Amino acid sequence: MKEHPFMAEVGESSGSQSSSQIWAKLVPLQAQQSDIEVCSDEMIVSSQITSSSQVKHDWCKITWNEDMLTAMMQNKSSNDILVDDAVVRREDVVEIKCGTEMVLGPNREEYLSYIFKLMPNQETCKKKLKISVDVEHAKCSICLNIWHDVITIAPCLHNFCNGCFSEWLKRSQKKHSGVLCPQCRAVVQFAGRNPFLRNIEEEILQADPSLKRSDEEIALIDSYATIRSNLAIRSERGSRRKRGWAYDGDEYASEESDDVGPQCPQCGSAIGGFQCNQQTIHIQCQNCGGMMPSRADMDVPQHCSGCDGSFCGAYWQAQRVTRSEYHPVCNHETFRPISEHTITRIPFLAHEMNRHEQDITERCISQSGRTLQEVVAEWIRKLNNREIVPKTH
Ligand SMILES: [Zn+2]
Ligand SMILES: [Zn+2]
Ligand SMILES: [Zn+2]
Ligand SMILES: [Zn+2]
Ligand SMILES: [Zn+2]
Repeated sequence: MKEHPFMAEVGESSGSQSSSQIWAKLVPLQAQQSDIEVCSDEMIVSSQITSSSQVKHDWCKITWNEDMLTAMMQNKSSNDILVDDAVVRREDVVEIKCGTEMVLGPNREEYLSYIFKLMPNQETCKKKLKISVDVEHAKCSICLNIWHDVITIAPCLHNFCNGCFSEWLKRSQKKHSGVLCPQCRAVVQFAGRNPFLRNIEEEILQADPSLKRSDEEIALIDSYATIRSNLAIRSERGSRRKRGWAYDGDEYASEESDDVGPQCPQCGSAIGGFQCNQQTIHIQCQNCGGMMPSRADMDVPQHCSGCDGSFCGAYWQAQRVTRSEYHPVCNHETFRPISEHTITRIPFLAHEMNRHEQDITERCISQSGRTLQEVVAEWIRKLNNREIVPKTH
């Protein structure tokens, strides 16, 4: 008669109690048998002649591999066993994966057979997760194409091509009206690029290239696109309360507090020949958190040319606005070329702010008999000569 296997964990001494989650199953090919669950990282599968018998024989040892997609199986029985029709001798080890067939002994006729099945878990799901998307939900309601450089507006959370919404924004400002969502007419208070949806946009076009626009169309829509970093758009109601760009949802509006966050120096007073008005769209500086008007009418950069992040230092320097208690303005110093800086200690942000690692680096440099300034200068020279290439953010 065929032997009935059951599971037994490897004893205490093997130190294999790290996981109690079921990560694999042995699924019997014979209808009257039940599944065997594998739930520790290393398990021995035993078999017994009948369910009441006290005599048990080890069958095999299953050890989960690091990649979490395969396992090692060692033959622990006194017979040869079959794994995917190949003979595995006593104590021999083979790799098994989801779908591998294992026979308890040297032939299928006399011995039970099982299929090794990996259970989906968080790690393996991460590798395999595929989302299905209805392409109709990934279309811009202005141009009716799949989004291009998709932006999301709030609070209604509708999505559009950057170029399409930028044009809409420009027209709304010309009409001196509030900015309403082109799709649902809700007042728009925020607009920003959406990297997650952008990945979906790219995957859709990869899966179905017929949905791609021509290079000319892409160039045209890119030429309209003006949204680079997150924009705060003030609503009519908010400005009447002199809250500037501040969020005007009911929560904030009901709170009578002057603390509305970092303000824009050009809201309420003309500085450098410019004063914000109701239609002014604001950019929040990624570095200091302060607000500045989004200006297309001047040459001063408001964004990093590398990562498109917004930075206010150069803009406020051109407007001759310096740091004050109310306006956190980026230090103008940071806009000088790095080669002109004098560096005497490891920057605070180096080594992910790990003070200990910074000390080690500092000691290594001083032991080499050079100054930090010399080391940095050498790296800048290499960077400028393109001998090293920085990682883009
Ligand atoms: Zn569009
Ligand atoms: Zn909307
Ligand atoms: Zn302003
Ligand atoms: Zn700033
Ligand atoms: Zn950057």
